[in-house]
Amino acid sequence: MGLILSKFGGKCVSDAQEIAKIKDIVKGDAAGEAGDRRYIVVAAPYITTDGTAQKVTDLLYLCYSHIRHHIPYQPVFRVVCEKFLMLAAGLKIDIDLQSEFNEIQKRMEHGGSEGYIASRGEYLMAKLMAAYLDMDFVDADGIILFDKYGRLLEEETDSAIAAELKKHETAVIPGFYGTLPDGSIKTFVRSGSDITGALVAKALRAELYENWGDRAAFLTADPQIVEDPSRIEHMTYAELRELSYIGNQSMPEGSIFPVRRAGIPLRVRSTADMENRGTLITTKPSDAQNADDRVLTGIAGNANFTAFSVYRGLLGSEKGILRKVLSIFEDWDINVEHVMIGVDSLSVIVGTEGMEGRESEIVDELWRKIHPEDVVVENVALMNVVGSAFYHRPGCASKAMAALASEGISLRMMDQGASEINITLGVAPEEFEPAIRAIYRAFVG
Ligand code: ASP
Repeated sequence: MGLILSKFGGKCVSDAQEIAKIKDIVKGDAAGEAGDRRYIVVAAPYITTDGTAQKVTDLLYLCYSHIRHHIPYQPVFRVVCEKFLMLAAGLKIDIDLQSEFNEIQKRMEHGGSEGYIASRGEYLMAKLMAAYLDMDFVDADGIILFDKYGRLLEEETDSAIAAELKKHETAVIPGFYGTLPDGSIKTFVRSGSDITGALVAKALRAELYENWGDRAAFLTADPQIVEDPSRIEHMTYAELRELSYIGNQSMPEGSIFPVRRAGIPLRVRSTADMENRGTLITTKPSDAQNADDRVLTGIAGNANFTAFSVYRGLLGSEKGILRKVLSIFEDWDINVEHVMIGVDSLSVIVGTEGMEGRESEIVDELWRKIHPEDVVVENVALMNVVGSAFYHRPGCASKAMAALASEGISLRMMDQGASEINITLGVAPEEFEPAIRAIYRAFVG
């Protein structure tokens, strides 16, 4: 394999032992996948006190709010500094961290922005890693670029990264932040080092974006529901989206789209489980995936949806009705997850959390604007049963439904995406977990 862009998350850089594994991955063959890993992106470490891990980034945000409220921030900042000093000692590297701390403190005391302060965990970690791995430090400041509204400038960022890295044989780049047009630092969303990794992978036209983090692999089902679910060895980007859509196996969208669009495969794995090669995510399914008799890639869902069902004779064939109903949800800024249309009815399903208790207002408006014969609101659980191998293969939906029937679970609603890679099934919330287990058993055994 050619160039691999490796991103290492907070857990992988939290102690000297884990960091030593990074050296073996970058300089040796510990990853079990040969490739050229000359450029890496790192996140800020975790600090573990009394068995509880917390992010250095959280402590830096805390420093910022202390400063804003004129409360001494130094004790918190000292904890952060000690973490880096301990890492440097554990790795036996000679690096002048004290002058970095002094500079940061100076900026903190003279109006350093929230973004600047919060990003220092990644900055210091990248400095430290560069010294340990004997690689160049290349700051994200100046190569990850935002416009004045804080939106990522994708093309400019792509060119700036490529141009800068051309000057370096090797580089450690801090994740999570970039630069606004006025020169100040802005961070991505939390866990945003994944985004930096994807942007660097894209700019370098890497052959693989390797994301080392907390997650050893994506799982076929939620381990809190299904005992010891199997790992997903390979899936497509489309399947990943379907599984994160209503489940909890998500990654920030921004960290997927740059590599997905560029057709670069993503491998998710963890330094805590080196034997396990994790999950490979590609644009197209592998032949092995298509040939797998199990057919199922994964099943995800949650029991926290609300269905608004509107009934009126021939409602489903009325012109513009869908737009009218959906505009009610749009006006309340509520994201619609699913819509199902029958001859005399229409159901809109939304995430219960996103409703923020506005259920009765919506029901009132449905009565006022749609003039229905009835409106029924109920809680529902949705599951997404996902498999690229479902495509043009008869019997997949019936297998899932038969599994529910055999457990005496009644199906409230169902929908199949046009891509034929997912079947969405709705059941009563109390039947959610038995339903997941039944479907998993039917496909995986
Ligand atoms: N350190 C940042 C955070 O805590 C970014 C990251 O970990 O990816 O959110």
